[in-house]
Amino acid sequence: MKIAALIVAAGKGIRAGGTLPKQYQLINGKPVLTRTVKAFSEHAQIDMIQTVIGIGHEAAFADAVRGMELLPPVLGGETRQASVFAGLKALQEHGPDIVLIHDAARPLVPGKIITRVITALDKSPCALPVLPVADTIKVVTGDEVTSTLDRSIMWAAQTPQGFRFEEILAAHRQAAVSGLSSFTDDASIAEWAGLVVKTVAGAPENRKLTLQSDIKEAERAMAAQQVRGLTDIRTGNGYDVHAFEPGDSVTLCGIEIPHEKKLKGHSDADVAMHTLTDAILGALSEGDIGKHFPPSDAQWKGAPSEIFLKQAMQLVENRGGMVSHCDITLVCEEPKIGPFVEAMRENLDAIMGIGVSRISVKATTSEKLGFTGRGEGIAALATATVRLPEVD
Ligand code: MG
Repeated sequence: MKIAALIVAAGKGIRAGGTLPKQYQLINGKPVLTRTVKAFSEHAQIDMIQTVIGIGHEAAFADAVRGMELLPPVLGGETRQASVFAGLKALQEHGPDIVLIHDAARPLVPGKIITRVITALDKSPCALPVLPVADTIKVVTGDEVTSTLDRSIMWAAQTPQGFRFEEILAAHRQAAVSGLSSFTDDASIAEWAGLVVKTVAGAPENRKLTLQSDIKEAERAMAAQQVRGLTDIRTGNGYDVHAFEPGDSVTLCGIEIPHEKKLKGHSDADVAMHTLTDAILGALSEGDIGKHFPPSDAQWKGAPSEIFLKQAMQLVENRGGMVSHCDITLVCEEPKIGPFVEAMRENLDAIMGIGVSRISVKATTSEKLGFTGRGEGIAALATATVRLPEVD
């Protein structure tokens, strides 16, 4: 059985603020759409993913899904209904048996809901995830309440909504031919066409992000999910010194800074990155950088130090943990570090992927005292906080 996901990302909604629609806004550093597509690409039962995007969003889309295996996107229409219809028509040539139609603005869809919808399609042509309605719903005319609805029979519809492909395509075609264009979800088109729609349990975290506050709340929910169970909190420190020798630049946190000297060392002598690596290894009680990358081993000669940092991050990942914060202090009279601090934080984030807000880089002089004060070298200190699962 071939199962397609159709992700509708053609909305122009900018209520969440900014100039790009909400599906391209970042949550925890990644576009909403990237996370939505990933939820489906990582699901074992999904065979193909078709996206529908808005005109003018091609570049943002290409950025959001770089490296992902998707069918070429199609452009959406005037309404959500028209956009879905365009996506269904594009999918037709790939012959899916089932299609799951999903809003791009629901990035936190749990895999178990995708599974539930697919399973329900064994017995019914359409499946819809729903949630009970928590608030009492009033019918209001002007500013006056005219009636109160019976909440016990009301359910809020989510996506993905699952359909046997030929049946939903026919329903959409029939609706278009009939000149109807304002259905706001696909289950209502199926209902209109007389198909039976079965419900399955939705999930509160599968909410649609509409406002900026929804995005903030989703970020908090994701962060909480990420640290759940990582209650064994470790701190490691690192310290390293490299001497100067004649040269024209130093590399610190992977950023090359012009200087009339360079740092002496076996690798690229990035004293800051070595110190940070040691701090992470220290938090794991895994020895130090020299144990993992012996200076006696010729393969590390001139090596970029990000190899060491990446390996330390891999060890954290192997233990099922995360680096929740790091703080680096560089001690030197020269070169001036301040102008490069932001570039350093961004570069470390590119390697570590923990978010710039979790990476601190600062510098101090030693008031012309000692070897750093005399300009003989650079010292660096680092602290890393690592969260690991409790091990019994
Ligand atoms: Mg070193």
